[in-house]
Amino acid sequence: MKLIFASNNKHKIDELKAFAGTESDSFRIEIVSLKEAGIDIDIPEPHDSLEENASEKSWTIHRLTGNACFSEDTGLEIEALNGEPGVKSARYAGEKRSFKDNIEKVLYKLSSETNRNARFRAVISLIIDGNETQFEGVCNGKIIYSPQGTEGFGYDPIFIPDGSKLSFAEMSIDEKNRFNHRTKAAAKLVAFLQNMKANSTN
Ligand code: IMP
Repeated sequence: MKLIFASNNKHKIDELKAFAGTESDSFRIEIVSLKEAGIDIDIPEPHDSLEENASEKSWTIHRLTGNACFSEDTGLEIEALNGEPGVKSARYAGEKRSFKDNIEKVLYKLSSETNRNARFRAVISLIIDGNETQFEGVCNGKIIYSPQGTEGFGYDPIFIPDGSKLSFAEMSIDEKNRFNHRTKAAAKLVAFLQNMKANSTN
């Protein structure tokens, strides 16, 4: 089954394509990026929640194409910062700021903090047959004191997931996908579609 992924983020696309490649042969989703679908659009994320932003992105692409599609919005939620940067993760250090600027702001705000607990929370919005369903994926972990690793994107160099000694930026895509918030949400999406298919053939 083909699904358009309403994202221009190459890292997210690569992660989800790698995940989809490991799913069972009897039910495989083929993820089509916006670029592959011939859609050149930068979808805004104007809302105060991951759920609303995910919804806005998937409905935008569904209205444009009429096809089944999904989008995803993620936030890094740090316990000692009352859940910041959260929905503002992309622009924590201001509009047009780099991953490095955002990381520096987080490390500065946590400089005298011993509670390093944090989590990535991803929300996927799927639109199929004109109906929306959302799926959440969470990865708990810790913010380290200085960046480690060069892989991945965003806050990967300062986040170590529970159960690992490596930061996300020290992992290959397949290793990151063992912990990844986004692929946990995507696994729920796949289960939902499998269930839908099973019910329609009964
Ligand atoms: P978005 O709004 O879902 O595209 O993501 C917001 C920001 O969260 C991104 O710009 C990244 O800085 C960060 N982010 C999202 N997912 C990840 C991840 O898997 N690892 C590290 N940072 C991430």
